[in-house]
Amino acid sequence: MALKIDKEKCTGCGECVDTCPFEALELVDDKACVNESCTLCGSCVEACAFEAISIEDAPRRTDERTLASKGVWVFAEQRQGEMPEVVLELMGHGKRLADELGVELGAVVLGDQVKGQAEELFALGADVVYVADDPCLADFNDDAYCEVLAKLIKKYQPEIFLAGATSIGRSLVPRVATAVETGLTADCTSLTIDSERRLLLQTRPAFGGNIMATIICPQARPQMATVRPRVMKKGERTPGQTGRLIELTLEGKEKTGTRVLEVVKALDEKVNLTGAEVVVVGGRGLGGPEGFDLVRELAEALNGVVGATRGAVDLEWIGHAHQVGQTGRTIAPKLYIGLGVSGAVQHLVGMQASDTIVAVNTDPNAPIFEVATYGIVGDLFKVVPAMLDRLRELRGGA
Ligand SMILES: Cc1cc2nc3c(=O)[nH]c(=O)nc-3n(C[C@H](O)[C@H](O)[C@H](O)COP(=O)(O)OP(=O)(O)OC[C@H]3O[C@@H](n4cnc5c(N)ncnc54)[C@H](O)[C@@H]3O)c2cc1C
Repeated sequence: MALKIDKEKCTGCGECVDTCPFEALELVDDKACVNESCTLCGSCVEACAFEAISIEDAPRRTDERTLASKGVWVFAEQRQGEMPEVVLELMGHGKRLADELGVELGAVVLGDQVKGQAEELFALGADVVYVADDPCLADFNDDAYCEVLAKLIKKYQPEIFLAGATSIGRSLVPRVATAVETGLTADCTSLTIDSERRLLLQTRPAFGGNIMATIICPQARPQMATVRPRVMKKGERTPGQTGRLIELTLEGKEKTGTRVLEVVKALDEKVNLTGAEVVVVGGRGLGGPEGFDLVRELAEALNGVVGATRGAVDLEWIGHAHQVGQTGRTIAPKLYIGLGVSGAVQHLVGMQASDTIVAVNTDPNAPIFEVATYGIVGDLFKVVPAMLDRLRELRGGA
C-alpha cells in the first residue's frame, strides 16, 4: 500500500501536515508531500477536505506465497528442556485459530536433546512437530535460531507464526520476520481471525496504552505475532495424542559467529506475581500506604501475593515490583482479589485472564465489575475484615 497525493486537487492548505501524528507530511512548493515516516494510518486522508489524498494498494509482491501458505505454527521455546507457560497458552490459542481456518497446528522446537518434547506438543494439540535437535542449538543463540527458523518457514510456509513475548521471543522473532520478509506485531494481547479475508487480527496496546490497535498483515506471509504471557488460556492436554514428526538436519552453517560462554539463571523475583495462585491487589481506594497492611493480611491468609495498581505504585505506597497491568506484570492466578481498584483498561489487560476475579469497590459503576466473577459494592475497610473473620471461622479460629 502507498499514500497517493493528487497534486491537481491539493490546495496546499496544510491541514494534512497539521493532522499527521508522525510528521510524515510537509508542504513543498505549496503542495503536500509525503516522506518515509508515513505509517499509512489514514488520518490525513480523513482530514483532507479536497479528497486529494488516498491510500492505494501496491502490486501484490507476495501473492504466490500468500496463497500457498497454510497452517498455524507456535514456536515452542524451551530453556534447558523446560517450556515456559506461554507455550501452553499459545498452543491452546493456536489450536483455536487453526480450527477456525481449517488448517493444521504446527509446533517448532529448537535445542539439544529436545526431540522428546514432541510428545508433550502432540498432547497439547499439535498435528505436526518440527524439531531441530543439535548441540549447536543447546543454548539460545539469535543467529543460529534465526537461521533455522527462517529455513523452516521458507520451506513449509505457515500462514501464521506465533511466539511468546519473552526475552527470547522478543530478541529472536523480529530477526526471523526480517529474514523471511514479513511483518510482525509484537506484544499482542488478543488474536482473532477475520474469516472473510483469512487474516489474523493482531491486537495490542498502542500510543502509550491509550488505545488498543488491531493490526493486519495482508500481503506477506507468515503473519507473525508475539504474545504476552498470561493473556490467553492454556490449552487442554490429551495424553497419548500423536501427529507427524518432521526432523530438520542442520548443515553446519548455522554455527555462526556468536558463542554462548555461560548461561546464568536470574535470581528468583522477590515478588512472584506471575507464578502465584492467589493475588490480592490494592488500588488507590486504600487511601494510603497503610491500607496495604490490610491487603497483606488478606494475601497472607489466602497464601497469596500482594499486587498493586499503577495508581498506588505512582503514589509510592508500594514498590513497582508489585504492579499488575500493561506496564507491570501480566498475571492469571486462580484467584484475583481487587481492593479499591477501579479497573482501568491498562490494569485489566494484565489480569483479566484470571480464573476467578473478586472486586471490592464503593462505586457500583467501576469498570472492574465488568470483568469480575464476584463483585462486592462496599467499603473495603469493612468488607476485608469481614472476609478475614469468615476465613478464621472456617479454619476453626486459626
Ligand atoms: C501508558 C499507561 C500505562 C499504564 N499502566 C498501568 C498498569 O500497568 N497497571 C495499572 O494498574 N494501571 C496502569 N495505568 C494507569 C491506569 O490508567 C489507572 O490510572 C490506574 O490503574 C488506576 O489505579 P487505581 O484503580 O488504583 O485508582 P483509581 O482509578 O483512582 O480507582 C480507585 C478506586 O477505588 C475505589 N474506592 C475508593 N475508596 C474505596 C473504599 N474505601 N473501598 C472500596 N473501594 C474504594 C474508587 O471507587 C475507585 O474506583 C497506566 C496508564 C497509562 C496511561
